[in-house]
Amino acid sequence: MGPVTHLAAGVLIGASIGTATGQPVVGVIAGSVGAIFPDIDRPGSVLGLLIGHRTLTHKIEFVLGVGALAMALLGSTPYAITSVLSFVTGGISHLILDAITRSGIQPTLFLPVHFKGPLKSGSILVELPLIIIMLLCIKKVLGVTI
Ligand SMILES: [Zn+2]
Repeated sequence: MGPVTHLAAGVLIGASIGTATGQPVVGVIAGSVGAIFPDIDRPGSVLGLLIGHRTLTHKIEFVLGVGALAMALLGSTPYAITSVLSFVTGGISHLILDAITRSGIQPTLFLPVHFKGPLKSGSILVELPLIIIMLLCIKKVLGVTI
């Protein structure tokens, strides 16, 4: 999926977790970062040139490992827990969204399974409706009235 779709998912997840824990801003920021973080290996990036796209950074073990490292560094304050939970859940949303595209992903290092779906990544006809639905959900979760 494209970065805006991943970002919308991360904002939605972070807003949901942050609202539940009383820290919506922390949740939105951490969920957003977590949701776009796996694409640090995008084609053209240094990491993408070294390891390829949708490889190590698109594994559940990678997302959980970064979350565990963040938890070790941040401690167990309420802000840290909301941040790490939002980050990890945002990262998992990234894997799920990429897994339903035609290219798909192999989500784990240890099992030779490759998930893929029917959706074309980058297609406005696929991603725009998803983004609109997530924006409506974000509006509802945050209680925004226009
Ligand atoms: Zn990705």
